[in-house]
Amino acid sequence: REALRKTRRTVRRGLGTLFGGGRPSEEAVEELEENLLAADLPARLAMELVETAEASGGDGLREGIERRLIEELGPAAPVSWAEAPRPMTVLLVGANGSGKTTTAAKLARRAAGNGRKPLLCAADTFRAAGTEQLALWAERVGCDVVRGQRGSDAAAVAYDAQQAALARGADTLLVDTAGRMHTREPLMRELGKISRALEKGREHAPEETWIVLDASIGQNAVAQAKFFHQAVPLTGAILTKLDGSAKGGAVFAVRRELGIPLLYAGLGEGEEDLAPFDPESFVRSIFE
Ligand code: GDP
Repeated sequence: REALRKTRRTVRRGLGTLFGGGRPSEEAVEELEENLLAADLPARLAMELVETAEASGGDGLREGIERRLIEELGPAAPVSWAEAPRPMTVLLVGANGSGKTTTAAKLARRAAGNGRKPLLCAADTFRAAGTEQLALWAERVGCDVVRGQRGSDAAAVAYDAQQAALARGADTLLVDTAGRMHTREPLMRELGKISRALEKGREHAPEETWIVLDASIGQNAVAQAKFFHQAVPLTGAILTKLDGSAKGGAVFAVRRELGIPLLYAGLGEGEEDLAPFDPESFVRSIFE
């Protein structure tokens, strides 16, 4: 798959000799290590794979490494739009620039394509451009959008959107939130407040809180995910920009450190560039 071009190129250098059969040379093992780390695989996992390579006689090494990586990612966790509760609320969190707004639109399109009626909510009332962007996307994917006045209370906007969803018979509310990482405390408070407002409106918490993570920032994605997990407990992750990243290995760290399912991969800027995250094809495409 073209999508993982850069991660693949980074990991593959040196693998040719390794996977060629026969006992791997010291240089080949060293190169494998360098490349796994350059792809931002967690150090512990990279070391483990290197030890496997050193201990192997060459045969079945590729399969062994692939199996280990697939296992590390956990089982595929496809979102079942057909079976998900109706109505449902999905709170989308993540740092500015991670691709949250684009992903909200992609998810709206996907939900609609699976027979649901989505409603988008722009709950970042600070960034006018972000709200504008979401409204443009909503138009493009043919979905309603609820947005507040600039500077209005984000939690109130989310609450209103939930009421609007109920009133309009929309069964899938997708809430795009703020991601100002430089104001950590206020951001945490705001997200907590939005989550509580949604809880009040539905008499239970939003069913899903998904974090949108830019895979191209490598291991920093893990720190970001941990921060948001503290603010609002996450139930899933979406990795964006996997199409242009040499650091796709960070996906392994996100899965290991947070233990939440990896739901989707963002593979471009278009509304269709979102694929269910599939551990097997992800790992295979690294080595192909
Ligand atoms: P937000 O600030 O988190 O809402 O991020 P945006 O949705 O505005 O996205 C930031 C930039 O990343 C935009 O230029 C998007 O087109 C781009 N983007 C989002 N997702 C992807 C993806 O999966 N692949 C690529 N290549 N670009 C993406």
